[in-house]
Amino acid sequence: MQIKERERIEKRLEELEKMPSFKEEHSIAQMLQEKGISRRDFMKWAGGIATMLALSPAYTPLIAKAAELSDRLPVIWLNLAECTGCSESLTRSEFPSIDSLIFDYISLEYHETLMAPSGWQAELSLQNAMEKYKGRYILMVEGGVPFGDEGRFLTIGAHAQTGKELAKDAISKSAAVFAIGTCSSFGGVQAAYPNPTNAKPLSSVSNRSIINVPGCPPSERNIVGTLMYYVLFGNLPALDAYSRPTWAYGTRIHDLCERRGRFDAGEFVENFGDEGAKKGYCLYKVGCKGPYTFNNCSVSKFNSGVSWPIQAGHGCIGCSEPNFWDTMAPYEKPLADRSFQSVFGGMGADWTADKVGLAVLTATAIGIAAHATIMKIKESKGE
Ligand code: SF4
Ligand code: SF4
Repeated sequence: MQIKERERIEKRLEELEKMPSFKEEHSIAQMLQEKGISRRDFMKWAGGIATMLALSPAYTPLIAKAAELSDRLPVIWLNLAECTGCSESLTRSEFPSIDSLIFDYISLEYHETLMAPSGWQAELSLQNAMEKYKGRYILMVEGGVPFGDEGRFLTIGAHAQTGKELAKDAISKSAAVFAIGTCSSFGGVQAAYPNPTNAKPLSSVSNRSIINVPGCPPSERNIVGTLMYYVLFGNLPALDAYSRPTWAYGTRIHDLCERRGRFDAGEFVENFGDEGAKKGYCLYKVGCKGPYTFNNCSVSKFNSGVSWPIQAGHGCIGCSEPNFWDTMAPYEKPLADRSFQSVFGGMGADWTADKVGLAVLTATAIGIAAHATIMKIKESKGE
């Protein structure tokens, strides 16, 4: 770790330590102890976060300290046009992981689906939180923003405030903004053709820098990792062309896939449930979109790290990419008309990975193109 960077983080943590704690009566150490999680496990978790954020292991004690101070930054979470899958990703866990416990520990000042107040009391809680912590709170927004009929496809509360107005107001008073999930990041399913509510990404509401944490849903690790980065550094991480943190979305699913050896060997599942499926062959021919998708699912996994779609036997559907509902479908057939340099004509988010991976992939890409063409011919013959 560079000395200057270490000093900067230590200064940041010192400043946080001086800020009022929202959980004075209940430290993170107490909470972990109550849940049966040892200090050793906690330090292992901090080491895992360091690795995930592509930081040196020397950052581990600083990350542990940052987690202990994470209650200094209030969080406001808004639910706009969404299905609550992103909140569920974070909270639904039979045996809560340290990631989801950190979320319990932070000062979550407002979250419609988790908090007790409802109706006008909920509205009041939000207004109070936005005024009390003006310029200090982290805003997390789940869901797209309907722009149709001047935003009236989504109104919230007794005063029928539109989601658009609410998001604009909340962004203007926040310290940092995270768009959680593909709907908030890129419009998501709400913005899929024909997009009757004219839903748009959160970034359409304001000119502020917004960190996109896409996925349908994103893993709890990507949400908590983004939060921990902000607690640790107090600024935005390196972002790709779609404003996604590169530590989480900098590598293609295909390049971190446990079935990649099967792909390179030309061993493909031809139909779900066949012998190839039982042997763990590559899922490209049954529609896997891993070659076009940037995310770290094979590393972070879901449901407390139990599994991820490709491990469970279904191909990636590309949920962390813009417009995936329209552009990645049909989900269980290979795409016939994509090159590997698909984003911004090859100059976008996948450009670097393409440059690195293209040499390795050329041979298999030719195989894929041939396969896709054959599929097209078969389809046109009605086979
Ligand atoms: S991004 Fe996906 S999981 Fe999250 S709210 Fe939207 S549809 Fe649901
Ligand atoms: S095509 Fe899909 S299943 Fe096959 S190696 Fe790539 S990411 Fe994995």
